[in-house]
This record gives sequence, C-alpha cells and structure tokens, in this order.
Amino acid sequence: MKLICIGRNYTDHIEELENEKPTDPVVFMKPDTSILLKKQPFFIPDFSDDVHHEVEILVKINKVGKYIDKKFAHKYYDEIGLGIDFTARDLQSELKGKGLPWEKAKSFDGAAVIGNWISKNIFENINDIDFHLEKNGEAVQRGNTKFMLWKIDELIEYVSKYFTLKIGDVIFTGTPAGVSAVNPNDILVGYINDEQNFSIKVK
Ligand code: ZN
Repeated sequence: MKLICIGRNYTDHIEELENEKPTDPVVFMKPDTSILLKKQPFFIPDFSDDVHHEVEILVKINKVGKYIDKKFAHKYYDEIGLGIDFTARDLQSELKGKGLPWEKAKSFDGAAVIGNWISKNIFENINDIDFHLEKNGEAVQRGNTKFMLWKIDELIEYVSKYFTLKIGDVIFTGTPAGVSAVNPNDILVGYINDEQNFSIKVK
C-alpha cells in the first residue's frame, strides 16, 4: 500500500511557510515503512533538529480505481481518519532550496501517524469536518475540511490521474496552520470533532 500526501492544501499554512499558492495540488508519497506502529512512541531522527507535526485528515481507499471522476470519488472510500505527516523541516528546506525531492524529510521510518478509522457515515458533510491537534494539552493546530483548496473528492480525481488507487491506500489531505517543532516528552493528541483519535508520545 502507499500513502499519497498532499502539500499546500490550506491557505493559512501556505502563508505561514511563505510558499506560493499552487495551481495544481502538490503531491508526494511516503512508503509503508514510514507508518508509525500502533502504540509506539515517535523517535526524533538524529538527522534533524527541527521535526514538525502536521496534523491531517486521512482517507482510506476501499477499491481499485484509475481516472476517477470527482462525481464518483465518494464510492472509493468508507472511512476517514486523522494522522500526522511528520516533517524534518530543516532537511526539507535544504532539499527544497536545491530543487531536490523531499523524501528524506518526509518519508523516514515513523514519519506517518495513522490514527483510528471512522465510518464516513457519521459525518453529515465530509467537507465540514473539524479537527485539531493538542501538544502537551494545548491546541496548536485547528482545521476544518471546508478550508481545503482541493476537497477530498477533487483530490481523489486528481491523484488517480497519475496513480492507480488500490485498496488500503491512504491519502493525507494536507495540513492547516500551526505547525511547530516537536521535542522529547511531548504528547501529541489528535481530535476529530472533539473526539480523541490518536495519542503519540515523542522521544
Ligand atoms: Zn503534510
């Protein structure tokens, strides 16, 4: 399975990193080895002094598809989740500056947190889901899917032009503002609509 990640999908986060607003979604991937195993702490890798949390809404693909029209995209997922796209920001900035791929900064072991999956049927509107991340009990990132530049069904249409989507693939839909560095002993707790979805200890 693969993790397909979207960058720069919330205006407020584009502004905080002083990035340009894209004309197309920014897409990158993480391998399955980047998934943080359940109940395991996140270890800050030794090659970075500035690993940021990026809390994101996740979508789990439930059938194989290619060239999926956004009108039919809703048939390709039943579950919504929450996760973290951990990013070694110092390494990413260096790679970006050289025009090189981001993989080392985004795809290292443990860099993808996948929380609990929730049936999409509990949400009245998939494009109006509140979520937030608390670091040591304080809310640091708040988002709502209505603020996505490209909504979930549009993302499925877009990425499936390039990659065949397979059962179990996960789409990370981008992060809102409020990213910051994590430190040893931090506790990161993610919430969808005020329901706790995951809790991660940083080491
Ligand atoms: Zn991200």
